Amino acid sequence: MGTGFSFKVGKKLDGRLGRTGVITTSHGEIKTPAFIPVATKATLKSVLPETLKELGAQAVLANAYHLYLQPGSNLVDQAGGLAKFMNWQGPTFTDSGGFQVLSLGVGFKKVIAMDENTFQADDVIADDKERLAHVDDDGVTFKSHLDGSMHRFTPEISMQVQHQIGADIIFSFDECTTLHNTRSYQEKALERTRLWAQRCLVEHDRLTKERKDKPYQALFGVLQGAQYEDLRRKAAKDLSQMSMAGVSFDGFGIGGALDKQTLGDILKWVNEELPVDKPRHFLGIGEPDDLFVGVENGADTFDCVAPSRQARTSSVFTKDGRLNISNAPHKDEFFPIEKDCTCYTCTHYTRAYLCHLFRAKEMVAATLATIHNQHFIVGLVDQMRESIEDGSFFEFKDRFMKRYYGK
Ligand SMILES: [Zn+2]
Repeated sequence: MGTGFSFKVGKKLDGRLGRTGVITTSHGEIKTPAFIPVATKATLKSVLPETLKELGAQAVLANAYHLYLQPGSNLVDQAGGLAKFMNWQGPTFTDSGGFQVLSLGVGFKKVIAMDENTFQADDVIADDKERLAHVDDDGVTFKSHLDGSMHRFTPEISMQVQHQIGADIIFSFDECTTLHNTRSYQEKALERTRLWAQRCLVEHDRLTKERKDKPYQALFGVLQGAQYEDLRRKAAKDLSQMSMAGVSFDGFGIGGALDKQTLGDILKWVNEELPVDKPRHFLGIGEPDDLFVGVENGADTFDCVAPSRQARTSSVFTKDGRLNISNAPHKDEFFPIEKDCTCYTCTHYTRAYLCHLFRAKEMVAATLATIHNQHFIVGLVDQMRESIEDGSFFEFKDRFMKRYYGK
């Protein structure tokens, strides 16, 4: 059956799980490893899609939760799907909304409520906070962060929403836990996520058949299991072997509770279990050192809001580390953020001008800083890919890390 979706592994990194590859979608190719900028609400904040393409982005990732609430996934469907709606000429991803309904959905209060029965043992909410999301075996009920209205996501609804949004790569609905949950809760949540993954496959298959005039959407299964090796390996085995009526996952998303110390191990555990010939997306990773660890341990694509978010607070990347461009020392520096950077911002503007724009609270400050930061991170992962190709990955990593982190 021709789906228009494929993944071809290229060169392997010596003695590690890292590799290069090419993901083919109905809207074009992604050379991997690749960093995928986040266009949460069908826009990369402050940057036009043409500029995003020019700075080197190969694909964008939007958010199912946000687009479901506003403008509504049925409207994106009427518009001809995400790529057409936002005028992005290239591949698109949406995440399932699982993370947002449980964390962001809980809103600005930054609290997560687990189900009633285990609440005592897994209380990660301060006493005075309102519980805004409730997980049960069938799905999650949550309150909109926009207007406080109540909504419900189930695996089936997440698939329906993501089919309407119409991204090339979509993710199964999972329960995202935190590192603070107990081991027994992690086990329970993992089993729930496994059953939800099966339901996602069934509903995805039904929708694919029902909407056969639409471009094929690849479904990635999301792996949880927090910091536990046995749970992570189990999740990887379960999802890679999972098949419902002959349909299996096209790739995998690695998500959930992890920290800097365990991130490399977690990736190694799951990627040792996952099939080599399917792509793996590492959700929510965007710091340079984490990206190196990710690539080394076999992740193919990454997304993170950090490069844009940091840009808007005047924090810009340089090869010598991040700097705050609005600080006094930069106000009369009449040279670019980085002299050898080829981005639009660095080839046209000085640090002094950016410093002025941020201090004057001019909108274009965010645009120019975002262009540079996205170019830096997208370009960094591109260089990792090239260095795997020419066998210089570890030299490149050492050189970059020494200069960026001073170690
Ligand atoms: Zn630049």
